[in-house]
Amino acid sequence: MIVILNENASAFQIDELKRDMESRGLVVQDIYGESRRMLGLAGDTAFLSEEALQRIDFVERVVRVSEPYKLSGRHFHPEDTQPVLPGNVKMGNGHFAVIAGPCSIESEAQILSIARDVKRSGASLLRGGAFKPRSSPYSFQGLGLDGLDLLKIAREKTGLPIVTEIMSAEYLDVFAREVDVIQIGARNMQNFPLLREVGNLGKPVLLKRGLSSTIEELLQAADYVLMGGTNDVILCERGIRTFETATRNTLDISAVPTLKKKSHLPVVVDPSHGTGYWDLVYPMALASAAAGADGLMIEVHNSPESALCDGQQSITPALFDKLMRAIDAVRGSLGAVS
Ligand code: PEP
Ligand code: MN
Repeated sequence: MIVILNENASAFQIDELKRDMESRGLVVQDIYGESRRMLGLAGDTAFLSEEALQRIDFVERVVRVSEPYKLSGRHFHPEDTQPVLPGNVKMGNGHFAVIAGPCSIESEAQILSIARDVKRSGASLLRGGAFKPRSSPYSFQGLGLDGLDLLKIAREKTGLPIVTEIMSAEYLDVFAREVDVIQIGARNMQNFPLLREVGNLGKPVLLKRGLSSTIEELLQAADYVLMGGTNDVILCERGIRTFETATRNTLDISAVPTLKKKSHLPVVVDPSHGTGYWDLVYPMALASAAAGADGLMIEVHNSPESALCDGQQSITPALFDKLMRAIDAVRGSLGAVS
């Protein structure tokens, strides 16, 4: 629900109304329109009477928002969000940023070599899984906290901020302390308690679309994170399950402009998990940039054939370098600036 306030509403009156709404369990968001101040009310607003609110003399109008997501939607926040990221990394609101690195951290030599290569080619953030969500319990599960330590070494040596996935609330404190951008993987997109907890950490969050989730469900998941108070949520399209078996997933490129229309949050695309094949990563990355994505997440490995996880969808540092140039060309031809 959006409460549009009169021009003459005083700061005291607005604060009092905000406190009243918060005491009823609602999340209240300030919205500054061109000529009007508004309050966005998220939560269970069914019990609120529009008439009663409308009778308040400094309230001009009340509008119910029909979408089942509020905080991530453009009604509450018309302008693009540019998340505050460490290392002065700019993403969203016209800025494009690439997250690159291996599926899993395997050794110090491996992560350092890849980190140096992707940095040289222009990546803004380093990815690497320490805790891996593997379909088979017999597959490599990641190095856990040891992997996180190696990722931190790579950050120290390259200056690249790090992105890695949290799978269990058990590690919330460690991630809050050590990780720059906390990734919620596709399998946990609807782990609602984890979403709430991660949103409370005051850290940027990369939220990946669930394996079979709709865009509406992705935005509802983003609301869970935003409710915790963080504003820095990045949405990630990573392919969805369809009847098609020629690719690992079906990369939904139309999700990019759709999400950009519905939400103020930046959207990145992961064509590695989205296709499952290294040779499809390059064309789909370019398509994502052309479709208006704010960034990409790309799996890069210095020896894809011996990777412990997702080698078949990992590109080499040489191809990554070529891709980065092609992205600049595509964005340049579309008049994008940075
Ligand atoms: C990943 O990015 O490491 C990953 C496991 O991806 P997803 O959650 O999209 O499957
Ligand atoms: Mn992977």
